Amino acid sequence: MKRPDISFELFPPASANGLDNLGQAVERLKGFDPQYYSITYGAGGSGQQKSNELIAKLAEDSDLTLAAHITLAGASRQEITDTVKSWKSLGIKRLVALRGDGAVPGEAFVPHTDGFQDSVELIAALRELGDFDIAVAAYPDPHPDSQSLAADLEFLKRKQDAGATTAITQFFFEAESYFNFVEAARKAGITIPIVPGILPINNISQLKRFADRCGATIPEWVIKAFEGLEDNPETSAAVAVSLCLDLCRVLIEGGVDAFHFYTLNRSPLTEAVCRLLALQTEQKEAA
Ligand code: FAD
Repeated sequence: MKRPDISFELFPPASANGLDNLGQAVERLKGFDPQYYSITYGAGGSGQQKSNELIAKLAEDSDLTLAAHITLAGASRQEITDTVKSWKSLGIKRLVALRGDGAVPGEAFVPHTDGFQDSVELIAALRELGDFDIAVAAYPDPHPDSQSLAADLEFLKRKQDAGATTAITQFFFEAESYFNFVEAARKAGITIPIVPGILPINNISQLKRFADRCGATIPEWVIKAFEGLEDNPETSAAVAVSLCLDLCRVLIEGGVDAFHFYTLNRSPLTEAVCRLLALQTEQKEAA
């Protein structure tokens, strides 16, 4: 049994302390031989500058394989083109192409007046800029802008037809959500790999706030699993690893062969899950 392919998502830290944490996380996770580390793109001006700085620093000072996230939010076509060309010159071969979110949470997304209208247009333009691997987002729990599952899948199919080579899902906690989504996607003609996005839960309160904004579902039993553990980080971490490992195991049993971990720049939970997954696949291989 082949060990699943693994990728790790990182975000550009806001402080020097955050940069140290990120450096430590990268060091600890290197041993799992990830396919790539993806770097998220900030939601606005200074956030985007931080993404660019981190990408340049890692591309120049390390031998990590990087995937740069890019969104079309708040930028003109020319600005996006220039950014991606600069990454190309740094040797970046992987992109994660996204629409991004509007400036005002909860309000309808409005593209830049000289910008790409939607992620399909963005992907088609990126395809013209180089032979990139282009990953896109997919949503087992419907995105807040989704009209219906059918409309969502039709849009994902358009992203594939424009040049996307992989989809990475938003995080989810029930394997069934993922399997049902993949089954529906295959019926809708989506043939690209759909890699599950896995979020080890570092902080349930933070996660609840984030899930509300992005439409992801946290099952009641997951919330209950962390009840009363606010001041008990050790038990909370043990619960998080156990939940995450169970989810990954069921996904592997269902045929999943790649995972994208949302690390939030912290290695311990992701590292624990990856260690156990690696050991288990080694053991199965040896049996
Ligand atoms: P899209 O897939 O383009 O649209 C989302 C949904 O809206 C579609 O599924 C569809 O239902 C509907 N829709 C949109 N446009 C149309 C249209 N023209 N016609 C019909 N339906 C339409 N955000 C960041 O700011 N930076 C990041 O680095 C970042 N990385 C992410 C990585 C992953 C793996 C994921 C899952 C999300 C990430 N996000 C990031 C969040 C993302 O930007 C938000 O979820 C955003 O609201 C939608 O972006 P998208 O590319 O998924 O949108």
